[in-house]
Amino acid sequence: MYEKIIAFIRELYGNKPFIPLSVPRFIGNEKKYLNECIDTTFVSSVGNFVDRFENDMAVYTGAKKAVVCVSGTNALHMALKLVGVERDDEVLTQALTFIATCNAISYIGAHPVFIDVDKSTMGLSPDALKAWLVKNAEIRNGQCYNKNTGCRIKACVPMHTFGHPVRIEEVANICKEFNIELVEDAAESIGSKYKGLHTGLFGKVGILSFNGNKTITTGGGGMLLFMDEKLGALAKHLTTQAKVPHRWEFRHDYIGYNYRMPNINAALGCAQLEHIDEFIADKRATAAAYAEYFKNVDDIEFFIEPKNSFSNYWLNVVVLKDKEAQQQFLQETNDNGVMTRPIWELMNRLPMFEYCQHDSLANTIWFADRVVNIPSSVRMGIS
Ligand SMILES: *Cc1c(COP(=O)(O)O)cnc(C)c1O
Repeated sequence: MYEKIIAFIRELYGNKPFIPLSVPRFIGNEKKYLNECIDTTFVSSVGNFVDRFENDMAVYTGAKKAVVCVSGTNALHMALKLVGVERDDEVLTQALTFIATCNAISYIGAHPVFIDVDKSTMGLSPDALKAWLVKNAEIRNGQCYNKNTGCRIKACVPMHTFGHPVRIEEVANICKEFNIELVEDAAESIGSKYKGLHTGLFGKVGILSFNGNKTITTGGGGMLLFMDEKLGALAKHLTTQAKVPHRWEFRHDYIGYNYRMPNINAALGCAQLEHIDEFIADKRATAAAYAEYFKNVDDIEFFIEPKNSFSNYWLNVVVLKDKEAQQQFLQETNDNGVMTRPIWELMNRLPMFEYCQHDSLANTIWFADRVVNIPSSVRMGIS
C-alpha cells in the first residue's frame, strides 16, 4: 500500500539496504581532536575542549553561559534543582515527551502534571496550560499552589518536540503570571529558534542533549543554557562536585554532582559544532523534499514548522489518517528496510506516571495515534 512512499524515501537516502531513522555524521575534525585528547592524556574531566565547547555553544546559541553535562537527563535534573524544585512540588509538562523529562522531575521527588499539546507545534499548549492553571491553581504568599492537592506548582517544562518550537513566548508569560519557573527541554531543538531567539533561552534555564541520535553528538552528553551568568556559574560549580577552587585542598561547599562532561566527549562536540549549519541546512532540505512529495499523497500530512519558528527538523513527522493506518505504515516501512517509529508511549500510560494528574490530553492522544517519524539523518556526502 505504501510502496511508492517507501521507494521515495529509499531514493532520498541513496537506495541503501537499510535506511536508519537518525544517525550521526563525522565529516570534520572529530578524529583529529580525539587524537589530541589521547596524545595529551587529557581524556577526562580536565582539558581545553570542555571550555571551548562551552564557549562555542554559548556563541552559537546566544546564551550568556553554557555548561556541559554528561547527559541531557542530568542537565534536566540540575536545571530543576537550580530553579528551586523540591520534593513533593508539582511540575507541569507534556505527556508527549521522551521519558527523560519525567525521570528528571522524579529524581527530585517532584510530581509531573501532564498538560495537552498544540496541534500546530506538538508541544505544550499555552491555551491548555492557562486553562489548567485557572481551574486548579491559586497564588498564596507569592507561590503557586494546586488547590486540589495542596502541593506547590514550582516549574513548567515544555519540550520542543522533534525540533519544532512550542509557542514559548506565551508559555513564558503564563509562567510569569503564575510565579512558575520555566525550564525548557530543548534536548531535540538545537539550532531551532522562536522569533529569532534560540530555544532554551526563554526561561531561567534550558537544556540540550548531544546523545547519538540528536542533531550533533558528543557520544553522550547534555548542556545547560543560561541568560543569567551567575546562575550559570553556580551550575558549573554544582555539576563539578562543588569544589572550592584551591591548588591542593579538597573543600566542597554544597552537595555537588559529578555531571561534568569528559574532555573526549567535548572534543567530539567541538568538531560536530563546526558543521552544524550545514547539517541543519541539509535536514531542512530533506524536510522540504518530504513536504513537496507528501503534498500529492492523500491521507498523509507532512508536519511543517510552526508559525514564528525556525525548526532544525530533527526528526521528520508524518501524520497518518488514524491508528490503523499508522500501524500499517509502521509495519510496511520497517518490513522494507526503512526505519520508522511511532511517538513515545505517552507518559501518563507508563506504570510510574499513571498516578499523575493530567488534562484531557485530547491533542496528545490524537498525535499518539497518528504520528510516525520517518528517516531524518543528514544526507550530505551519502551516495
Ligand atoms: C534526548 C532527550 C533528552 C535527553 O536525553 P539524554 O539521552 O539524557 O541526553 C531529554 N528530553 C528529551 C525530550 C529528549 O529527546
